[in-house]
Amino acid sequence: MERLEQSTNTGPKKAVIVGVEFREPPTEDDGSFGELPLLVESSGLEVAGEIYARPRRPNLRTLVGEKIISDIKYLVDTTGTTTVVFNEELKGRQRNNLEDELQVEVVDRTEVILQIFADRAKTREGKIQVELAQLLYSLPRLRGHGGQELSALGGGIGTRGPGETKLETDARAIRDRIAALRGKIRQLSVTRGTQRKQRMSGKSAQWSLIGYTNSGKTTLLNALTGAEGYADDRLFATLDPLTRKGFNPVTRKQFLVTDTVGFIQRLPTQLVAAFQATLEEVKYADYHMLVVDATDEDWQRKLDVVHQTLEDIGGGDIPNIVAYNKIDRLEYLPHTHTPMEVFVSALKKEGFDKLYERMAELEGAYPIKRDMR
Ligand code: GDP
Ligand code: MG
Repeated sequence: MERLEQSTNTGPKKAVIVGVEFREPPTEDDGSFGELPLLVESSGLEVAGEIYARPRRPNLRTLVGEKIISDIKYLVDTTGTTTVVFNEELKGRQRNNLEDELQVEVVDRTEVILQIFADRAKTREGKIQVELAQLLYSLPRLRGHGGQELSALGGGIGTRGPGETKLETDARAIRDRIAALRGKIRQLSVTRGTQRKQRMSGKSAQWSLIGYTNSGKTTLLNALTGAEGYADDRLFATLDPLTRKGFNPVTRKQFLVTDTVGFIQRLPTQLVAAFQATLEEVKYADYHMLVVDATDEDWQRKLDVVHQTLEDIGGGDIPNIVAYNKIDRLEYLPHTHTPMEVFVSALKKEGFDKLYERMAELEGAYPIKRDMR
């Protein structure tokens, strides 16, 4: 009965989202659970309910204990949910055990992010990068028919034999595909490097727009260049770096501006590595424009994450200005202490005179030194 009702339901598939904060050792609340509904909805699911639990410590078998599982099960049954999304990363075995107990699909935050990236990738390079990230994530999580796990599989050269199981054959196929994709990415990286050199041999200043997803980077790119990029109130509307020309009336010079993929809380390491192309654009820019959604209560912490990530990928010393965006929705401007800052509305094109002045000041203070790279 239950099944029949679900299959005739034509609306979006429903999801119950689960966040967990452990007391031993204490989990740091990084605000990532607050982002989960938007993420889940961006992946095409409808959030039908949420559970936030504070158990003492992680359960090795199912991450959370019986009591929480039965709470989840109750929500799943009463809402007709088909997917449960955990904010925490699940081990393959934990996910399989949870699926057995809940009798619905169980995924974690990372898989949701990967799915969104997969749906949004447009260029050949973007598609390859997403596929690689998905395979890297799924490899240790393959599920055999007997619920058998792959994590302990030795693999490597010479392990093929008559006794090889279906699971091992699958794993081997995935490893081969990973190697092939890595090869393609290396080739594309060379091509991209050549293109970048051509761009950099020109005199125009290269600006990269950097910031959290949904902060307004694409809207700002469009406003600065008249380009029709794809701005949307979903996460990761843009996946591939996009470069366009703008004109600064203060310097009376052309500049190039690149839109980049948005930052996000707990971006899985596999993804960071897989999005090399975007990171290169960030690293090789002459100037950074850090875009902040000033209407977001959490903007300060997010700006800190952006600074930290730039440090981590080796782009921390590139001169920047901070653009506090969406001021059309604010009654008061936020209190800030950033030396090179400007308040704008990308949507209403407000504050652009000041923005062009700031860009000119920065370009004047830090002339381009490309011979250093
Ligand atoms: P991105 O993810 O950083 O590229 O963000 P987008 O440019 O796609 O913008 C995300 C959402 O914020 C869209 O719905 C935009 O229309 C909206 N937005 C962007 N800039 C502004 C602004 O200055 N004011 C207002 N009110 N909304 C904005
Ligand atoms: Mg965008």
